[in-house]
Amino acid sequence: MTIHIVETGIRAHERAWMDQAIELATTSVANGGGPFGALVAKDGVVVATANNKVTSSLDPTAHAEVSAIRAACQELGTFSLEGCTLVTSCEPCPMCLSSSLWARVDRLIYAADRHDAAVAGFDDRKFYDLFEKRPQEMWPMAVEHLDLPHRTQPFDAWIAKSDRIDY
Ligand SMILES: [Zn+2]
Repeated sequence: MTIHIVETGIRAHERAWMDQAIELATTSVANGGGPFGALVAKDGVVVATANNKVTSSLDPTAHAEVSAIRAACQELGTFSLEGCTLVTSCEPCPMCLSSSLWARVDRLIYAADRHDAAVAGFDDRKFYDLFEKRPQEMWPMAVEHLDLPHRTQPFDAWIAKSDRIDY
């Protein structure tokens, strides 16, 4: 997974949003959070901001990007961030990158990269390496596939549900 950004495509207001994200990340450190900040913008307006709260909220998924996505969805009253830009102080880890895809974010902009994060002791690069280079059998977490006959029961119920909300 490599994130490609066309550098010449960065606009002035996006540059200002990045300054804000980096400021959020720096302030987060002073307030006991992790050194990451993110914001979601739509139609030229910032709709949500967040910083990393993994240790303060005892939540390993409370990364700045995931938190900003959650806050933006609450603010906009939707589960889709189509038309939104996610600006984050650091290259998203695989979880945040996947969350951004699930959220249907249009555009993603980051400043520090996975190597900068690794220098500060964060596992972003290690996890990217796991996905990109390591067979699952070599992961530090055991992943087992139970091939049960009723494994598709939830999907059968989903497909049969006429009033489902697709996402
Ligand atoms: Zn993350």
